[in-house]
Amino acid sequence: MKFQDLGLDPQLVKAVEEIGYEEPTDIQATTIPLIRAGRDVFGQSSTGSGKTAAFGLPILERIQHKGRIQVLVLVPTRELCEQVAQEFVKFSKYKSVKILAVYGGVGIGQQIKNLKDTDVVIGTPGRILDHINRRTLDLQNIKFLVLDEADKMFDMGFVRDIRKIIQYVPKARQTLLFSATISSDIIHLAKNYMVNPEKVKAEEYVQTGKLKQIYHNVTVGDKFSLLVHLLAQEKPTVAVVFCATRKRVNSVEKNLKKYTSVLAIHGGLTQSKRNSIMDLVKSGEVNVLVATDVAARGIDIKTVTHVFNYDVPKTSKDYVHRIGRTARAGETGKAITLLCPEDHENFRHVLADSDIDVAEQQDFQRLQFEVIRTDRQRFNHRRFSNNRGSARHSNNRRWR
Ligand code: AMP
Repeated sequence: MKFQDLGLDPQLVKAVEEIGYEEPTDIQATTIPLIRAGRDVFGQSSTGSGKTAAFGLPILERIQHKGRIQVLVLVPTRELCEQVAQEFVKFSKYKSVKILAVYGGVGIGQQIKNLKDTDVVIGTPGRILDHINRRTLDLQNIKFLVLDEADKMFDMGFVRDIRKIIQYVPKARQTLLFSATISSDIIHLAKNYMVNPEKVKAEEYVQTGKLKQIYHNVTVGDKFSLLVHLLAQEKPTVAVVFCATRKRVNSVEKNLKKYTSVLAIHGGLTQSKRNSIMDLVKSGEVNVLVATDVAARGIDIKTVTHVFNYDVPKTSKDYVHRIGRTARAGETGKAITLLCPEDHENFRHVLADSDIDVAEQQDFQRLQFEVIRTDRQRFNHRRFSNNRGSARHSNNRRWR
């Protein structure tokens, strides 16, 4: 099937073809006709399924530039907000509509100005509510309300904000909800705020067949050395290394700097810093991104070939979100978990839902891990001055 077979506006089809989409993904093929027919849609799909175009294209088809907000898309994170806005801008290359990303952590003044003349607002719940309270956001003309990654918005505690925001949106609208997982809260939301929604379940566009998932048994003290060894061995185009906390992210980034071009991303950084880090990774200047779950949510970098779980995620849901950063848009990928005895309990939850093989044992050189002081109590890493195991890599060797 081709995009034009869906009967979409040729201006949109042209833009999508220029982006390089050859045919619609599952969720696009099923959802676009439903939205065009005026239905509310409840989509079970995660990032990687192509859901942004699934709701973005039929919405953009139905709106014109009026300088009044006709579409509100709520998303959990700033990164996803930027990403969805950028996709909308690409889709509407041949249509004159104005699209605005509205999130917290940046100045509000410019947003207030831009809100006076825009057609589509993509926003995070906290900042949207802030604008509503300041009366700088008029939602009277909304035709489409989208709740994107609803489960994550709930996980992040936005449920009350979302309910409040919906009170300001006219009832005569189309409501589209997308969520990777379904909980009783989500079902409750759908029952209260959607009209006879059509349920759609999408195959992940991140093809698990193209994703190799393995784990290494390792002790806490050897984790860093094994990570360095595996990065040297695997030579990722881009690797995302997930850690449990911000402090941990900072420690790992600082130590990795001796070996590769690396940056850290977490919620403690300003938005402009986070944006510039993402740009450096996308441009290929940086190969390794050390991240927390929240900061990496929704990240869409096609060149990510490897995901490392430096710390095992607590839930299988987090695991799935993490591995979804690789094997994107038909590319292959590898998800590598470093498993310590302390993580066995968490890993049992993950293994229940995923197919992960144990990796072959590796010999690697033990490296020094310098602990950032505040991190010391929690992880109590030892410093190693002696080498153990077969030395395949020199301490100072860079990978690229
Ligand atoms: P999303 O689930 O919307 O975050 O999309 C995941 C990735 O798939 C993004 O990089 C999109 O640009 C890409 N994508 C979405 N739809 C298609 C398509 N029909 N063909 C190829 N790539 C696509």
